[in-house]
Amino acid sequence: MKWHEILVRYGEITTKGRNRNQFIHRLRDNIRHTFKDLENMKVRMERDRMYLSSTSDEEMEQIIERLREVFGVQSYSPVAECPTDLDAMKALAKEIVQTLDYEGKTFKVNVKRSYKDFPLETYELNREVAAYVLSELPGMQVQMKNPEIELRIEVRQEATYMMVEVIQGAAGLPVGSNGKALLLLSGGIDSPVAAYLMMKRGVTVEAIHFFSPPFTSDQSLGKVKELCQIISKFGGKVRLHVIPFTEIQQTIQQAVPKNVTMTTTRRLMMQVSDIVREEVKAKALVTGENLGQVASQTLDSLAAINAVTTTPILRPLITYDKLEIIDIAQKIGTYETSIVPFEDCCTVFTPANPKTKPRTDKIEYYESFTDFDEMIERAVRNREVHNFPQVEVVNDFEDLL
Ligand code: ATP
Ligand code: MG
Repeated sequence: MKWHEILVRYGEITTKGRNRNQFIHRLRDNIRHTFKDLENMKVRMERDRMYLSSTSDEEMEQIIERLREVFGVQSYSPVAECPTDLDAMKALAKEIVQTLDYEGKTFKVNVKRSYKDFPLETYELNREVAAYVLSELPGMQVQMKNPEIELRIEVRQEATYMMVEVIQGAAGLPVGSNGKALLLLSGGIDSPVAAYLMMKRGVTVEAIHFFSPPFTSDQSLGKVKELCQIISKFGGKVRLHVIPFTEIQQTIQQAVPKNVTMTTTRRLMMQVSDIVREEVKAKALVTGENLGQVASQTLDSLAAINAVTTTPILRPLITYDKLEIIDIAQKIGTYETSIVPFEDCCTVFTPANPKTKPRTDKIEYYESFTDFDEMIERAVRNREVHNFPQVEVVNDFEDLL
């Protein structure tokens, strides 16, 4: 099928009042960024629509395929073009309906005749084209109200345009239209999904990972990089800060009772993250935490963790079931990487009986005997920064996937 252009509908962002233009321009920039490998793509904007086109058929197919992943796009339709001539219209109508699984479906032709001098009236055109398509492609039933297949035809003097398919987009808001947040990214299933959900609300995500060599291996870090590579598909660029965490983690083991090491570890992660967050001018911290999954994820634990900062800590997965999270992870392509079995810094140091209802005042008391400030400062200073997407494949554990 040769497509002329792709019509893009914005959906939610059209309701954004005064900020509307800003949102639309952000969406255009994100689309350009997503397709920067396509040399011939052009973007044309109108008030409530955007049109994408390319002189290369192969690029058009790529756009149709990959546009699904761009947040802020409600739906889109490939549009075909033919001369404004009845025979040409019939032929194109047949060709375009044929791209669908049409048998047994309800069908309707919807003509809009902007070119008033065309010899046939709208209703005549409707009838002519519908009769031809139905005779050529048997098995469809005409239905005027809510048909499954609606062939829209716009007749203009210079050309006639047709579309039939409405492809659902990723919806949400264009990434970058709602500021930036710093995500605590582990190698697990949850945090990459949290990243995706934040991006869907228009937030640019930067990631921070706590790495404890030699207790955690380079391969486990490779896994985190691979996850950044995957999620950067949705959010344009993702910057990853890798924090050397061994010194802090070992000190925690000496400093506080075994059953609260988990809570203290989380509190220190938050303190380090908050400093990096401020440096990169992000406005919130994000985690993949979920209520009730593990000992560190009770309301009491969350309260003790939150006590180290007044920065908003967003937890987009807080109410999700594990199966719902896995479902999204599979859909966005992070699941297979997340389940590769490598130790995380937390699993290595997890105590046998972590306290499920830690008291913040007690935790603060235990921690008060150790001066963590210098270690925190060192960890922040010695971090490594990586930018994604990277051209080269980052994982070195391909055989395990
Ligand atoms: P995940 O699947 O994201 O690892 P989880 O259900 O396994 O989550 P935890 O391992 O308790 O739960 O981690 C809770 C959250 O803490 C994670 O979602 C992540 O945001 C953060 N986190 C845990 N470990 C790390 C780490 N090594 N580096 C950065 N963030 C981490
Ligand atoms: Mg985990």
